[in-house]
Amino acid sequence: MEFGFENELCELAQRTAERGARLFVVGGRVRNALLGLPVSDTDVTSALRPDEMTCLAREAGWKVVPKGAAFGMVEVHIGDRTYEHTTFRRDKYAEGGAHRPTAVTFSDTPDEDAFRRDFTVNALYADVLAGTVADPTGGVCDLGARLIRATSPDPELILRDDGLRIMRLCRFAAELGFDIEEKTFAAAKKCAPLLADISAERVRDELVKILMADTKYGIPPEKSVLRGLHLLDETGALDVILPELALCRGVAQSPKFHRWPVLEHIFRTTAMSKPELPLRLGCLLHDAAKPVVLARQGNMHGHDVEGEKIARGVLHRLRFDNDTLERAVWLVRYHMYDLDGNAKEPTLKRRFARWGGDKVKALCDIREADFRGSVGEYITVKSADRWKRVLADMEAKHTPFSEHSLACTGADIMEWTGLPAGPHVGEIKSALLDHCAVRPQDNVPEKLRRIVRDMVRGPGEHPCKNI
Ligand code: ATP
Ligand code: MG
Repeated sequence: MEFGFENELCELAQRTAERGARLFVVGGRVRNALLGLPVSDTDVTSALRPDEMTCLAREAGWKVVPKGAAFGMVEVHIGDRTYEHTTFRRDKYAEGGAHRPTAVTFSDTPDEDAFRRDFTVNALYADVLAGTVADPTGGVCDLGARLIRATSPDPELILRDDGLRIMRLCRFAAELGFDIEEKTFAAAKKCAPLLADISAERVRDELVKILMADTKYGIPPEKSVLRGLHLLDETGALDVILPELALCRGVAQSPKFHRWPVLEHIFRTTAMSKPELPLRLGCLLHDAAKPVVLARQGNMHGHDVEGEKIARGVLHRLRFDNDTLERAVWLVRYHMYDLDGNAKEPTLKRRFARWGGDKVKALCDIREADFRGSVGEYITVKSADRWKRVLADMEAKHTPFSEHSLACTGADIMEWTGLPAGPHVGEIKSALLDHCAVRPQDNVPEKLRRIVRDMVRGPGEHPCKNI
């Protein structure tokens, strides 16, 4: 196999050889090269101890960043390339799935190192100078069969050491479109409760990769995202990481609108949405409140309002950044807006002027996904199409999409009315935005001035009764 390794990597291997060791590329880069897929990062490994690798790199004038030297990791920067070097090692783990090695023993060959890795296809070693592949666990055969299999004949040994490996299993199967070997899958089901020991950040990162699995190698979402979500469900990982969603399993809903029970509908909606993270998270959580609301009141009304709280709780627990969290939560809250598409046009316009174009477009996206996830087809959705037309019309007419875009300031309003600074000025601004949402041609200072004067003087007409 011709790997076409770059000069920087060959030089690192050369210098490693001068110290009596062979440098191997391992992990995703070897796996993907053999599959003809693009590679993202380069993990390298050899028998050199972390201090020896550090020394070697410093002598060559390369930058070295220690990354947990106790576990054998150092990052070597050559030009704009980064190589994460890990010394061959064997790990011993504490009870529980928290992935805290209690003892790390360095070793001298890939053979032992391979068994501390998760899956056979991730434990292939390409000798950089020789161009040969070492395959201690049968990864080449599994690549051919498109199978994810644990590196040990006893998969529980592997999955027990690090609960996150269960999510990685679902993720690789989703990204690559591979099957999961039977014994590995059975062990995953058994070990799923160990995910409870994993930090929220690591769970979040794997969940994000599953939600975006179609973007990694271009496998269609039904075979990647939907599959990854099904695997989380089937292994029992879902009950641990997203118990709120596990509650939705099998919850029936009206066959008039829905082909599937709540959880399956949620999964399909997510997979049929555009590949944008806040949108996919919004889809994942949009109906999460249905079982709770149903149990409380016998119907599902208000699951959007209750869903906002649940979504906020989940995304906070998984330590999502604020921007992503707020966008997703907002979509959950408003995904039922104008469900039947009958809202009057001025009503839509007044709402849209406050929400802004980005939110309206995101709402169109979740509406489309929601409907598609109900019927299982990429249908067009009338309400979303109408919203897009209304929004385009507003944009073409240069409608202001916030009070900041009005052609007057608070100071102007005070000058025109003689009002002091205070809430009345804010109320007038808000009324002006409502007005201009429907009549954008009035958003010029002279007209706004007249409108404000009428508001203040006109009996019974102005919006702030106290003026
Ligand atoms: P990609 O980078 O395409 O997501 P990868 O296989 O390179 O896939 P990384 O997370 O970069 O995955 O890890 C590099 C290698 O390190 C893996 O291929 C695997 O051999 C090993 N590895 C990483 N994380 C774990 C883990 N939690 N348990 C066991 N082995 C792991
Ligand atoms: Mg990698």
